[in-house]
Amino acid sequence: NLSEFRFIVVGSGFFGAAMAERIATILREPVLVLERRHHLGGNSYSVPDPETGIEIHPYGSHLFHTSSDAVWQWIGRFSRFTHYRHRVFTRYRGRTYTMPINLMTLNTLFGLDLTPEQARGFLAGEAAREPYPDPANLEEKAISLVGRRLYEAFIKGYTAKQWETDPRELPADVITRLPVRLNYNDFYFNDIYEGLPVDGYHAIFDRIFANSLIHAVTNCDFFDVRALLRPDAIVIYTGPIDRYFDYCCGRLSWRTLDFQIERPPVADWQGTAVVNYAEQDVPFTRIHEFRHLHPERRYRCDRTVIMREYSRFATATDEPYYPVNTPADRRIYDQYAALAAQETQVVFGGRLGTYRYLDMHQAIGAALKAFEREVMPLVVPA
Ligand code: FAD
Ligand code: UDP
Repeated sequence: NLSEFRFIVVGSGFFGAAMAERIATILREPVLVLERRHHLGGNSYSVPDPETGIEIHPYGSHLFHTSSDAVWQWIGRFSRFTHYRHRVFTRYRGRTYTMPINLMTLNTLFGLDLTPEQARGFLAGEAAREPYPDPANLEEKAISLVGRRLYEAFIKGYTAKQWETDPRELPADVITRLPVRLNYNDFYFNDIYEGLPVDGYHAIFDRIFANSLIHAVTNCDFFDVRALLRPDAIVIYTGPIDRYFDYCCGRLSWRTLDFQIERPPVADWQGTAVVNYAEQDVPFTRIHEFRHLHPERRYRCDRTVIMREYSRFATATDEPYYPVNTPADRRIYDQYAALAAQETQVVFGGRLGTYRYLDMHQAIGAALKAFEREVMPLVVPA
């Protein structure tokens, strides 16, 4: 009976899952989680492939990394983590380079043999050819970091495919997700903690939702059952914020992804978990080969699973994955944020609910904070 629940969480991704867990564990209150998809876990979900047993990430490889002790401790209650550290390679004009841009990338592309100090001077020279003292968008930021030649090789084409948006309209912090290094460190992330859950993300969600106070329902859209909920319910909403307000201030732009899975009959197809394709005329952005995410497992060797990732604008019926965040989007979002502030019984959270490009650890960190700052005050009178 849906009307029994005072706490409703819409969406079972990491934001919703962490919220439900806090409500059940700290408040010891029953909580109803409504999930539109057929499984729990949102985009972070992973599951063994029924045909090969290889753990696949159906929404793209999800690498867990954080420098937050609070987040690492929280997730550590639901899983042990492997020591996997992510590396990415990128293909450009028939050759393979290490990504993010580091000393090896630079030396290989230009046929040089620079030391770190020489590379510093080299990159400064590259950037000085087209100076942006106050870079205000992705393109200016990227060129100010590495210069136009590296930008055009490794960033321009990939970014064009990923966003189909003028890179001068994209926020600079999309590119500063990637470090630029003057040494041979080619790890993708800089965080203190990194790894993959030993038995997959689905096991994490199974454990979170095993709490007897959490009642999770899949294949259930909040908007279909809203009328059956208690009028005084406290709702944690992690769906798209523009959908919540019936698009009354216009549609936010989102990117969605199409994934194409193949199971070639070889032990190892590309030699690593993720290869990016930098050139614009290759239609996909990257290829995932999931067996490499768990080198500690003994997978069969007669087949592997690869997945090509294609990016495009989300239409009304597509799953939104990435907020595009152009200046026009920010203006629309600000109007929704003002409306959200008036919804005193609703907490908006997560990638979709706050229109922010959050990684898993940031979604969890935001949920732990929002529980303290937004949910607790609704329950405990100040
Ligand atoms: P989501 O996981 O999107 O969950 C939202 C849930 O709400 C969904 O399950 C949706 O079905 C449900 N929902 C929406 N509307 C309704 C409704 N009306 N009724 C019921 N349910 C509804 N992060 C990392 O840290 N490392 C990575 O390597 C990484 N790689 C990524 C790769 C890709 C391709 C993508 C798209 C994201 C990646 N992320 C990564 C980010 C990660 O997916 C997010 O940080 C995380 O999923 C955010 O959790 P969330 O709860 O905000 O949203
Ligand atoms: N990017 C790029 N070339 C690459 C990898 C990334 O230009 O080989 C840019 C691109 O704009 C991308 C952004 O950097 O959207 C962030 O990359 P990241 O790998 O963090 O994206 P995600 O894994 O979140 O899709």
